[in-house]
Amino acid sequence: MAHVLVLDASPTRNVIGFASRNPGPLDDAFRLLLLRRVLPDLDLSTLPMSQIKHLHRAYDGTFLLLTYFRAQHLRSDGTYDERLVVLHHDVDSVRRELLEQVVPEPRAASARVNVVDDEGRIIFGQPLGKSDLVVQKRFPTTLYAWRLQVAPTSSEGLAEKARRRRFLEMSLLAMSALVVVAGAIVLLLATAQERRLNALRSEFVANVSHELKTPLAIVRMYGELLASGRVPTEEKKQQYLGTIVRESERLSALIENVLDFARVERGKKVAYEFADAELGALVGKAVEACRYRADTEGMRLELETEPEVFARVDERAVQLAVINLVENAVKYAPASEVVNVSVGREKGAAVVRVRDRGPGIPPEDRERVFERFYRGKQPDGRQVRGSGIGLSLVASVMEAHQGDVRVEAGEDGVGSVFVLTFPFEGPPPSSVRR
Ligand code: ADP
Repeated sequence: MAHVLVLDASPTRNVIGFASRNPGPLDDAFRLLLLRRVLPDLDLSTLPMSQIKHLHRAYDGTFLLLTYFRAQHLRSDGTYDERLVVLHHDVDSVRRELLEQVVPEPRAASARVNVVDDEGRIIFGQPLGKSDLVVQKRFPTTLYAWRLQVAPTSSEGLAEKARRRRFLEMSLLAMSALVVVAGAIVLLLATAQERRLNALRSEFVANVSHELKTPLAIVRMYGELLASGRVPTEEKKQQYLGTIVRESERLSALIENVLDFARVERGKKVAYEFADAELGALVGKAVEACRYRADTEGMRLELETEPEVFARVDERAVQLAVINLVENAVKYAPASEVVNVSVGREKGAAVVRVRDRGPGIPPEDRERVFERFYRGKQPDGRQVRGSGIGLSLVASVMEAHQGDVRVEAGEDGVGSVFVLTFPFEGPPPSSVRR
């Protein structure tokens, strides 16, 4: 107890007695504080006689803990009158003697405890930090203005763990969202690709059918003419028959193109039959198959062959490759008067060249023309029928022969030159001249 104040029952509450444990100069000021500011805060109107009440409140930042009660006083004439007794406790000693005894030693306990006031200022103990795991409770009696806070000793560790877990969950969520988005993109791309392939497929079928129709129509026309017997001379008859033979060869070449391509596409090997062959004669046959078409386009086909250039080849496949190159020259270089085909030897290799004097192929397209379905644009905007498989097939034929195909610009930068290179075999023993 630090101070005791006794007051009478009159409305002005006159001081009857005042005592201080440590009397000193501050006592007067403290008594005035009690009378002027604290007394109006006491809940006296409903306070039954002898019932003890507490007031715990901060005045000018300092907490006061008061106990007060009404008491009856026996006067000398035998009557009673009323007194109000106010006891002021030393809060510091409460803190020291009470809290320090009841609150466990922080390091030894599994929980940390402190006491804070209404504004969260520390009254006793250490701050517990901000955590969801801090539990707080107001003192139910006496020290009303304070709250006891309890947190597990490991609360910071737990909070950190919870933070990390939240971060992990958020990351997982973000990752799943990313996977969903990536999946959707892949799906969209796959659908677009599928649509593109479908369009390509139907265009391919339309183009192939159209290419087949042309030689077939010629064969039929000359066939009907011969069947009608109205061919005037034997010479003409032979000429028509020759055309029929060459156009049907070209037709077979076109059909073989598609069949070989389909085989390559299905991952099946095209069955090649390799044999030593004289390239000049072989290429000559392929050029002949294209002659009718070149004639109708007003183009000359010129063949120049070095003798005895031998290579180990599949005759049918190489003829097909050369037909593809000559047909392309006729199709894409209509302004050329002449298409030159040559067979020769270069640096230990057998080489076939097909040269036109058309618009040529831009350097950036020279690799791409060998991709399947690739179709270039004509510089003059002309529409040329084609299926985009010819050169890809030439490339696969050359690969099977351990040779290769490339395209270069022609001399003086005019037109294109397609070059087929075969490993040179040399003449077979029987034909070696001494
Ligand atoms: P297609 O002739 O059916 O289109 P190809 O694979 O034979 O298919 O040719 C691919 C592309 O290469 C052609 O669309 C064309 O643009 C280009 N090309 C081929 N040969 C020539 C050539 N001699 N001159 C110019 N461009 C050519």
